[in-house]
Amino acid sequence: MLNLDQLKDTALQLDQEDTLQGFRNQFYGVDDHIYMDGNSLGLMSKKAEQSVLRVLQDWKELGIDGWMNGDIPWYYYAEKSAEIQASLLGAKPNEVIVTGSTTVNLHQLMATFYRPQGNRKKILADALNFPTDIYALQSQVQLHGFDVDETLLLVPSEDGRTINEKTVVEWMDRHHDEIAIVMLPAVLYRSGQLLDMAYLTKEAHDRGLLIGFDLCHSAGSVEHDLHEWGVDFAFWCNYKYFNSGPGSVASLYVHEKHHGAVPGLAGWFGTQKDKQFDMSLSFEPEPSAGGFQIGTPHMLSMAPVHGSMQLFQEAGMTNIRKKSLALTDYLVKLVQAYNEQVDEEKRLTIGTPLKAENRGGHIALEHSEAPRICKALKDAGVIPDFRSPNVIRLAPVALYTRFIDVYHMMTTLAQIMNEEQYKKYEQGRDVVA
Ligand SMILES: *Cc1c(COP(=O)(O)O)cnc(C)c1O
Repeated sequence: MLNLDQLKDTALQLDQEDTLQGFRNQFYGVDDHIYMDGNSLGLMSKKAEQSVLRVLQDWKELGIDGWMNGDIPWYYYAEKSAEIQASLLGAKPNEVIVTGSTTVNLHQLMATFYRPQGNRKKILADALNFPTDIYALQSQVQLHGFDVDETLLLVPSEDGRTINEKTVVEWMDRHHDEIAIVMLPAVLYRSGQLLDMAYLTKEAHDRGLLIGFDLCHSAGSVEHDLHEWGVDFAFWCNYKYFNSGPGSVASLYVHEKHHGAVPGLAGWFGTQKDKQFDMSLSFEPEPSAGGFQIGTPHMLSMAPVHGSMQLFQEAGMTNIRKKSLALTDYLVKLVQAYNEQVDEEKRLTIGTPLKAENRGGHIALEHSEAPRICKALKDAGVIPDFRSPNVIRLAPVALYTRFIDVYHMMTTLAQIMNEEQYKKYEQGRDVVA
């Protein structure tokens, strides 16, 4: 039987071998606490800070001329930032644009690609997706005047944690001539399960169905080959693993085979770039992902995306994914060692699939006392992420978390459990959890 102490040397060894260790000092706050919440809000980097300061400086000095003469001209800022992102997600440069918010981008993509025809009017999604995705799909169904319960098909989960890809394909078959479009998460926000996007895309296309993915929990954490897989569309936020700041501008991807499609929600920033200021009243969209932009970019919350992407480009997504898996592997080992030493009621259930290919960037631990355990962790200097009713999400982040941080997180957690320190806290969650 392993105890936790015996795993400390493993952490020191892994930290020594870590080729990404140099990135840690690019981030603020890493020494103030053990930050395990990068899947909700990534930490701030110096690069992200610099790119915001640069835009502020340009505004100060150039006023309106920042649009064309800024350090990176604001008029092309979304495209320039998207070019870097595209390379991180296996997309072509003009298949990605930094724009809008996650939820707005989902609306835009559904308004564009959800085209019910005759009997084919249903949307295939899953029962474990994030509420805002489901709300958006429901309202898209309602905009067409359809009944939500009949039209929005939610593939159920067998265990309450994961979605079986085979079941998704069964549903594609069962409702084959009624489905207009498929929309799924890449990584499930609660359990951290990673769905096989290549497989699901192929199965959808074999049945003549369009498919799109929400990459909120996979972008910046796992590798993608969006273009090669043929994924029709995708969208994601940039404030989680991509560390671009609270509410930072989001992104969307549209496969080049759909370029030129008329956006469901048109706006002047989707116009062909060299014609936008002709101020014509007939809309000619840019034949790229850029055509799906709506209005003037929110420069101050887009600026950090550009800075942050430079770090990702330098580190490389293959290296990031490799370290992320090593971190979560190590975390799982620690939890298993802990579980072997404690009584049943103190055990933490691992809710994340253990196979690397089925796992995103975080580990979900389940316990009936999760809300109070999270409060105790925070007071002890560990920042976890609670998801109602019983999930503690822990995301060690490749660019700034050390293996020894994971070790210290676990010894802190073990102490809270063993001494029942969580009992000092009130039950229930805070408003933002
Ligand atoms: C974080 C997250 C969102 C957030 O949407 P916003 O529009 O940025 O508030 C949406 N979907 C999923 C799956 C998420 O994880």
